[in-house]
Amino acid sequence: MPQPPKRGPKKPSQKPKIRLPKGDGPKKPNFWSQLLIALLVFVTLISLYSHFSGQGDVEEIPLSELATEIQEGNVDEIVVKGDTVEVTLTDESQVKTRKETGASLSETLSNYGVILSEYPNITLSVQDPSGLGYWLIQLAPFLVPVLLILFFIWILTRQMKGSGMQAFSFGQSRARMIDPTDESRKITFDDVAGVKEAKEELKEIVDFLQNPKKYINIGAEIPKGVMLMGAPGVGKTLLARAVAGEADVPFFSISGSEFVEMFVGVGASRVRDTFQIAKKNAPAIIFIDEIDAVGRTRGVGVGGGNDEREQTLNQILVELDGFEPNEQVIVMAATNRPDVLDPALLRPGRFDRRVRIDLPDIDDREKILEVHARKKPLEDDVTLRTVAERTPGFSGADLQSLMNEAAILAARDDRKKVAQRDLTASIEKVMLGPERRSHLLSDDEKKITAYHEAGHALVASMLPYAHPVHKISIISRGHAAGYTLHLPTEERRFQSRKEFKDTMAVMLGGYVTELEVFGDLTTGPSNDLERITERARDMVTKYGMSENIGPIALETDTGKALYGKASGDRDYSEKISSLIDNEISRIIEEAREKAHTIITEKRDVLDELAEKLLEKETMERKEFESFLRGHGIEVKDELKED
Ligand code: ADP
Ligand code: ZN
Repeated sequence: MPQPPKRGPKKPSQKPKIRLPKGDGPKKPNFWSQLLIALLVFVTLISLYSHFSGQGDVEEIPLSELATEIQEGNVDEIVVKGDTVEVTLTDESQVKTRKETGASLSETLSNYGVILSEYPNITLSVQDPSGLGYWLIQLAPFLVPVLLILFFIWILTRQMKGSGMQAFSFGQSRARMIDPTDESRKITFDDVAGVKEAKEELKEIVDFLQNPKKYINIGAEIPKGVMLMGAPGVGKTLLARAVAGEADVPFFSISGSEFVEMFVGVGASRVRDTFQIAKKNAPAIIFIDEIDAVGRTRGVGVGGGNDEREQTLNQILVELDGFEPNEQVIVMAATNRPDVLDPALLRPGRFDRRVRIDLPDIDDREKILEVHARKKPLEDDVTLRTVAERTPGFSGADLQSLMNEAAILAARDDRKKVAQRDLTASIEKVMLGPERRSHLLSDDEKKITAYHEAGHALVASMLPYAHPVHKISIISRGHAAGYTLHLPTEERRFQSRKEFKDTMAVMLGGYVTELEVFGDLTTGPSNDLERITERARDMVTKYGMSENIGPIALETDTGKALYGKASGDRDYSEKISSLIDNEISRIIEEAREKAHTIITEKRDVLDELAEKLLEKETMERKEFESFLRGHGIEVKDELKED
């Protein structure tokens, strides 16, 4: 929950900027303090009650006896409190009795033949029964159970809260807020490296937040929603925060996945609260992370979809539509699954601005590394360009974690600066998980791993369209026993069929070698096989790369059947399914043969390479290439292109 910044002896210009709505804003503390007060009253009541009933040590006598005492002249004073009659006798002792409700004491006594006015030495007084104590006693029989029930509710809700239910606070906004005056957490476009197009597009939003008049005067419609789309870790959140930072406005963030709660209606009311707080603080930015968690296409899925999600989504739409044209609140949302979003979200007037953020290319990777190297002293030998070269496919978040790992490595060795070798070591750590030197392979396992990796590497170096080998290792990492690192020499958007086919033969290199050398298989290649099958399937169903099916995309990018659809639940008709299966098997078989030919023809090279790996455990690209040259194998330096 956003906390209003404290007024403090900070800089005088820092006025608290965040206003919480009155009335229906977060009320949590009030509720609990009220309950506490109720509890206190309860305790006081109990003690009061026992105090008043503590008069039980005064003897209670029947009315007839009081009459007798009066006649005998033993009574000094009579005090009437409601129906209770307190009597002080002449010997100073006290007794009490009760009179009939509604009748006065003198009336009641006259029934016993006692006329009070005949006893002038008795002081008679009537006390008004409106005193607090009186009423408490009257009410106690009702109040005590009510308070007890309240008390139990209190205990129960406390327990529910402990289990995360928050029965009384679930409607409140859980938005996290970043105050523009908080310099330490402020992020600007300078902190976001690369993503030039996205920044360009978002500058407009910043300008609008700063100079709304300019746009309003010319009658321009201000966008309400911006959808940031891109893989995880490419910096969507970072960009949204940078927009807020540049425009100097508060930033409220909530996550779509938070809305998927237990009770229907909770998400919707949270959305309402968040928008309300943001509007009070306009100009402001609301950021909805993982909007696909609530914004999936409605009305699909088992049981007609999830009511809670639907209501939350509807509320977001209602809020967006309900914006006054010049409200100056801009909603930014992020997703890595734009394909599953409900079309209603993307209609004009809603999230109609779409900003795509791609994985960084080599130049951007270098810049991102520079950003994250700002606070880390680097040795002179560090060239971030080399690191960028070796990290295709890394997201901004991966690069940040790479930098961080490198700094940790340096600090572990008590060095003051990060060296190039720290960075190199961290690339593999981020890519494959930490090395597990402690996980010792048995001699047999080691031999199998060495042959397996040698098989991959050898096939890779014999095929013209396969990516060159950067490193071979039989030190286990993550859950791989060993690995061969192939990297394309440059960034490429397209891959050709020849490349696909050669790559598949490389992937099968390990499997074929194990079978050829040991006549048996281990579970080692299972990951290879998964990837090959997936790749072959894509070739057939998505890229039209199968000779026998031809240029038909059978599936969309997300796996929806496009062509040859079957009726009912199945995606493909019988005929198309078997055609696909046949093609996949054929493509894989082709790749297997290719790998097999290389392995059998170059068996002597394979044996030597495996031997060498067993001895050294890792081989870098240079070492591997001179090994190849030593065996008369031509080394390709660039990926061939057609
Ligand atoms: P997303 O929201 O797209 O999943 P984030 O914005 O949370 O990704 O990014 C995670 C982290 O990665 C950021 O905090 C930042 O440190 C780093 N990062 C990502 N992209 C960039 C970039 N372009 N420049 C600098 N740092 C980046
Ligand atoms: Zn393998």
